[in-house]
Amino acid sequence: MANKELLREQSNIAYNLFVGDDRVLLVDCGNCGATSFQHYCTPEGDISENYVCPFCGFEGDPSDFPDHFYEGFEESGEFQDND
Ligand SMILES: [Zn+2]
Repeated sequence: MANKELLREQSNIAYNLFVGDDRVLLVDCGNCGATSFQHYCTPEGDISENYVCPFCGFEGDPSDFPDHFYEGFEESGEFQDND
């Protein structure tokens, strides 16, 4: 049975991922669905406007790459108890 508290922790962690000072996001590709890390900012310090999927090569803006663990995902239907 899914543990909602631990699931919630996943999105908390996902929103606090850094490589050094560089914030990274765990997202799903809008084309192939693969999960990848994307840089929140460009090397110049601007917010990234373009992500590239390392699996299929799809390029798109952040709205094409939804967060893998989005806030509140633990309340979605797949984690509800069906008894
Ligand atoms: Zn892809």
